[in-house]
Amino acid sequence: MNNELLNMELLSGPLYQNAIRQLDLACDTMKLDPNVAARLKYPKRALIVSVPVRMDDGHIKVFEGYRVQHNMTLGPGKGGIRYHPSVTLSETAALAMLMTLKCALFGLPLGGAKGGVRCNANHMSRGEKQRLTRRYTTEIANFIGPDKDIPAPDIGTDEQTMAWMMDTYSQLIGFAIPGVVTGKPLEVGGSLGRTDSTGQGVAYSVMCAAKHLGITLDKNTTVVVQGYGKVGASAARKMNKIGCTIIGASDENGGIYNPKGLDLQKISDHLAAKNPLNTFPDAEPVTNSELLELKCDVLIPAAVESQITEKNAARIKCKILAEGANSPTTQEADPILYDKGIFLIPDILANAGGVTVSYFEWVQGLQKFFWDEKEVNNRLWNIMSDTFDKVILTQKEFKVNMRLSALISSIRHLSKAMLVRGFFP
Ligand code: GLU
Repeated sequence: MNNELLNMELLSGPLYQNAIRQLDLACDTMKLDPNVAARLKYPKRALIVSVPVRMDDGHIKVFEGYRVQHNMTLGPGKGGIRYHPSVTLSETAALAMLMTLKCALFGLPLGGAKGGVRCNANHMSRGEKQRLTRRYTTEIANFIGPDKDIPAPDIGTDEQTMAWMMDTYSQLIGFAIPGVVTGKPLEVGGSLGRTDSTGQGVAYSVMCAAKHLGITLDKNTTVVVQGYGKVGASAARKMNKIGCTIIGASDENGGIYNPKGLDLQKISDHLAAKNPLNTFPDAEPVTNSELLELKCDVLIPAAVESQITEKNAARIKCKILAEGANSPTTQEADPILYDKGIFLIPDILANAGGVTVSYFEWVQGLQKFFWDEKEVNNRLWNIMSDTFDKVILTQKEFKVNMRLSALISSIRHLSKAMLVRGFFP
């Protein structure tokens, strides 16, 4: 990569480099037009903003925020807003690229974008988070909009954050514009099923994989979930609902393991009483790295990126690995997992339930006509199983692993659209 016009910081982060290596492999395998391949390596636009916030003690702290739009060939930009201490421009750009690939894989009429603010939201009060969100939204207001670029929740942000973003944007324009964000509370135009949609989609993708592999999912099927946040906890609940036994779970402080099965209701009561997950009494504590290496049928990394690397891949002992998080596995780990016979459901396939129901929310908002939860989940199932089948067909065609196959399926759709639109000017 030697585009002198682009800021090196943008390209140099490990996640971006990982994404480029995956993209290169997919483009080479499918013999993609090099002009299209080169274009996909760079984001369309990236905005850096400073976000001054009055903290509760009266002083003003300046945070750094970003919004990156990777590709908008298929429609408005789409992607979450992350509040986390590790947020950088490069990480945001890599995640924006993943959003492009995810939306294209599912045939959504949306491009890929991502935003974030480098902050520790866990250590901020509600008031501080609200002021941060309102100022950040104001700084990126010209960049976003229901026809331009539509944010959603990601790590460290939630429905409340989206309600503040929607309100701030609407105040600036002068009337209510619910379509500027998705993942909103129901009261302001959110969709039923959106809160659990990423976890639901992960469970649906595992159901598709089990059917494909001829595995029955029942109480003898053991599941381990890394990350017990919005995605991990709902994926665990959904897997439990279809009859599987959850034997391990963790959050950033550590994990818990019980080979007989964890009682998820008791865990949620334990967490609701403000106890840390790893002090849950009916289980033995394990570290996050031990958790990933537990013997199980289904492993769901649903925390942060780069958790499964060339260092621990050989010790992973699951049958199906469903990536609830974005980019939890490095490119070097992929062939090791493949050689072990682990069936990988890559992130852009496994965790796309969130953005798919975001798309449903956007469509319902535009129509001003809202569906019941059953309809949302039926539509999610249909789109997930069709996309899974498409990836399996592509896998057979190119004889590649599931990650490459998902990337090729996605890029095939997107590149056709780029070529038919033609080059400007
Ligand atoms: N943050 C989620 C993701 O990474 C959802 C994005 C969205 O709904 O736009 O897929």
